[in-house]
This record gives sequence, C-alpha cells and structure tokens, in this order.
Amino acid sequence: MTHNPIRPWRNIDRRVSRKIRVGSVEVGGDAPIAVQSMTNTLTHDAGATIAQIRRMEQAGADIVRVSCPDQASTAALREIVQNVDAPIVADIHFHYKRGVEAADAGAACLRINPGNIGSLARVKEVVAAARANGCSMRIGVNGGSLERHLLEKYGEPCPDAMVESALDHALILDDLGFHEYKISVKASDMFMTVAAYQKLAEATDAPLHLGITEAGGLRTGTVKSAIGMGNLLWAGIGDTIRVSLSADPVEEVKVGYEMLKSLGLRTRGVNIIACPSCARQGFDVISTVEILEKRLAHITEPISLSIIGCVVNGPGEAAMTDLGFTGGGGESGMMYAAGKPDHKVGNATMVEEIVAAVEAKAEKLREARETAGIAAE
Ligand code: SF4
Repeated sequence: MTHNPIRPWRNIDRRVSRKIRVGSVEVGGDAPIAVQSMTNTLTHDAGATIAQIRRMEQAGADIVRVSCPDQASTAALREIVQNVDAPIVADIHFHYKRGVEAADAGAACLRINPGNIGSLARVKEVVAAARANGCSMRIGVNGGSLERHLLEKYGEPCPDAMVESALDHALILDDLGFHEYKISVKASDMFMTVAAYQKLAEATDAPLHLGITEAGGLRTGTVKSAIGMGNLLWAGIGDTIRVSLSADPVEEVKVGYEMLKSLGLRTRGVNIIACPSCARQGFDVISTVEILEKRLAHITEPISLSIIGCVVNGPGEAAMTDLGFTGGGGESGMMYAAGKPDHKVGNATMVEEIVAAVEAKAEKLREARETAGIAAE
C-alpha cells in the first residue's frame, strides 16, 4: 500500500500475507485486492455461463467462481475457461473427482475443503491434479456447515470453531507440501464473520478471501457486506473479496469495487463525488448523477469527478477531484479541471461536456500508463 504522507488518515496498512496465484491474477502479498463474483447460470450450459462471465469481466471482475456439482459441469468447464479471460475458480463440494476433473479442465483454483472429501488418498489425488495443472485452492469454511465434532466441542457455530476448521483443512494441505491456497471463513452473521477473520489473520499467513455469506438482496447485502468487510479491509485484512448478493452477479462486482474504491484500495473507473442536492441546486443533481453513472460505466482509468449542486460545496470538492462540475443555474454552471475553474457550461449541455471531458482525461491516462508500461487496474 502506498503511504500518503499528506493525508496519513487515509493510510491502510495491509496484513502481510504470502502471495499465491489464481491463474493470471496474484492474490495476497502486495497484489491489489482482487474482486470476485460467482455465476448463477447452470454451469453445464457453457454458452449462458460464458455470456454471464463476460458481463462480469466488463464490470471489472478479476476472478470468477463457477459451481461444479456434477460431471456435466466439469465437462463444460473446459469450453468456459477457453472462452473467457478471468481465471475460473471451480466450486467443489464433497466429490473429489469433480476437483480432479476441474483442475484438468483448466480451472485456475479449486474451492474445496480437503477435510470434507474423505480419505487422505483422495486429497492427494486432488493435490496432484492441482499441482500438475498449476491450480491453487481455496479452503472455504462456512458457519452453516461446520464439522460435527467442532459443533459438539463449541456448542454452536462461533469464530473459534470456524478458525479451527480452517486451520485443520490447511494443515492437511501443508502436510502434503501444498501451500498455494487461500482461506475464507464466511458466515451470514456479520459479527461472527469479522471475529473469525480477525482471529484467522493472526493464525496464518495464507491470503484471505473475504465474504459475508448469504448477505441478502442488493440493498441489505450491500450494507451488511460494507460494514463487515469494510471493517476488515480498513484494518488491512483481506486479499480478495466477494460480495454475496441475491442479485445479478454483475452487481456483486460493482459493489465490491465501490467498497474498495471507498477505502482507496482500488481505483478502477470513475469515482463520482456528488452532493445529495437541496433547494439550492442549480441543476437536477440526482438524475444527472444517475445518467453519468451509466454513461461513464465503460471508463476503467481511475478518475475522480465531483458533481455538486451549487457553490456551497462545489468549488471545495472540485479542488480535490480531477474533474468537477458545480451548478450555477441556467447557463452559469462551472466546469473544473485539476481543481481549478475551467469554463462555464449551461445545464443543457453539461452532461455531454462532462462525458467528453472524462473520456478525454481517460484517454490521456491510458496513453501515459501504456508509455510507462503499467498494466491497467
Ligand atoms: S452542495 Fe449546494 S445543492 Fe448540494 S446539497 Fe449542498 S447546498 Fe444543496
């Protein structure tokens, strides 16, 4: 994490984890926190799954998980992997053979709990397939499906039980000399999840995959995830995230990015700072922001943009953003560039002018980035 000497209150010291690879994406260490989502199509319908993954990629998904409940799914996986860019995590439960098939089909990572697939011989088979295919793993402990002996020991699902479960699974892989794994300890109870991750972060250097499971619909799930995962991310915990929403997976990607952008942990795309609007507004702030969010969704270069209803807060916000617009009513709006007033713009043309200014800025940033040989966010 780059330290901000001018605004030290923005600094987040990330926990030092070891780095693993999920296909082309690094997870852990100093790698950017990766945003994941999961398909909800039938995996054996390769066409529908590929189409959904492409939509997720456009929204910025770094990694995508697909369920592999049966052989038809792992059979479709090969075609899926070949037709998308994002590394694919195959979600395996119970049937170790699906894990072997998924690794052979090109999955970049297996979500599998080695303690749940039966004998050590089976685990060895999965690990061998993972090794042979350069595939990593995610140990995914879920508060709702803890091992019986842990429930008996602890009485009910709790952070200690989740961490013990995770470390038990990890030990199986460590004993086999396989360290290319990350861990998640998710529960639908936000408090339990946060406490479990805090404890786990102390107990291992494995990269951590954050999530509040079954968080709810778009609004509820977003709030719950932002509080729980935001708390952890702010404390420097978490190397990859998935926001679980009962909604279009594309929304999960968007919410994940917004969460990381709010904390300054990722910078992809336009970060719009907008006022809530009031009787002083010189234009309709709410509908304008809605339009701009749609019109600027294709921008991937990091740009901050302030859209403020009037001069009460407009110039101040514009001073801290790359581009800005402050309403003045009618023809008296003001465009700002690099924090300074640039030129007057009327309400009738403001949207077009703002979009053009952002696109031009994005193009300049892209050129500068490519000249410097820096990869896109
Ligand atoms: S910036 Fe102006 S328009 Fe926006 S909420 Fe504040 S006073 Fe109202």
